[in-house]
Amino acid sequence: MTNRPAGDLYRRYMAAFDAAQRHVRTCEACQPGQACTTGAPLDERLTRLQAAWIEHLGTRRS
Ligand SMILES: [Zn+2]
Repeated sequence: MTNRPAGDLYRRYMAAFDAAQRHVRTCEACQPGQACTTGAPLDERLTRLQAAWIEHLGTRRS
């Protein structure tokens, strides 16, 4: 089995999480609940991947 879309999704989710966290930690323009122009797309991507991941978990209930 080389086809593992779930693992790929999780890896992208974690990468997006890392990128967003790293940005917020070092950025002085980001405010709580109000990301700067660099942070906003990172935030957006994280939100989208998080939703996809949660949906994946929800559809996998055993
Ligand atoms: Zn920022």
